[in-house]
Amino acid sequence: MNRTMLVTGGSRGIGAATAILAAEKGYAVCMSYRQNRAAADRMIEQITAAGGEAIAVQADVSLESDVLRLFEAIDRTFGTLSALVNNAGIAAPARRVEAIDPERIQSIFATNVIGSFLCAREAIRRMSIDRGGAGGAIVNVSSVAATLGSPNEYVDYAASKGAIDTMTIGLAKEVAAAGIRVNAVRPGFIDTEIHAAMGEPNRLARILPTIPMQRGGTALEVAQTILWLLSEEASYCTGAIVDVAGGR
Ligand code: NAP
Repeated sequence: MNRTMLVTGGSRGIGAATAILAAEKGYAVCMSYRQNRAAADRMIEQITAAGGEAIAVQADVSLESDVLRLFEAIDRTFGTLSALVNNAGIAAPARRVEAIDPERIQSIFATNVIGSFLCAREAIRRMSIDRGGAGGAIVNVSSVAATLGSPNEYVDYAASKGAIDTMTIGLAKEVAAAGIRVNAVRPGFIDTEIHAAMGEPNRLARILPTIPMQRGGTALEVAQTILWLLSEEASYCTGAIVDVAGGR
């Protein structure tokens, strides 16, 4: 059977590493992105040059109409969906809770939580054996922030990832009998552009003393864990949340 994967936010960072590794392992990959078309185009070039199959679709996961359009593109191009990586996510500049406004919280939760729910819903509608699908697997990209709480940095972001952990546990139980496994990874500090986007490109230097392994992680290290959770090697894993955080 042809294996197909949607990686939301697959144009950069952890999502891009996941898309590249998935294509190497034989998945046809759909990457979604929010605005950076050039980065998505570079990804398609890289994957197709290596003999893989990939498409990129602009779609803001926080908007239901965009998510529906994204899955229609997958239906048209691939016909099936066997794996979803709910990776698209945003953070915000470090700020104490007493200084945050509702727009910031709404935007973080809209992308990180509502986006993950909407994409999971559309994936389940296609994968569920109850609905004529062939089963499948979902990996949600949480964060070790969910366990740390991220005081003085972004408690709102950490709380959005706590919601992802709870979603993973509940959804795994809800769709297990429909042939769908749902797991999560909780990355620690990973070297991507998200830190510069939050206004702190040198964040690693500040938090290094809190990382037992004394280094940041790479997007590839997270991608390898995601691909393992999606694979048959993890066939009895569901509802699992795997820390990829250097011991934090
Ligand atoms: P990144 O380098 O900033 O890349 C983010 C990706 O998500 C981009 O492809 C971006 O698209 C896309 N995206 C953002 N908002 C979106 C939206 N509303 N709809 C669709 N796509 C959207 O981020 P990253 O560091 O790889 O992070 C990926 C995931 O890992 C996030 O969920 C993040 O919370 C989580 N995480 C990261 C770290 C870390 O240290 N890096 C640690 C723990 C967890 P554009 O290119 O169009 O902007």
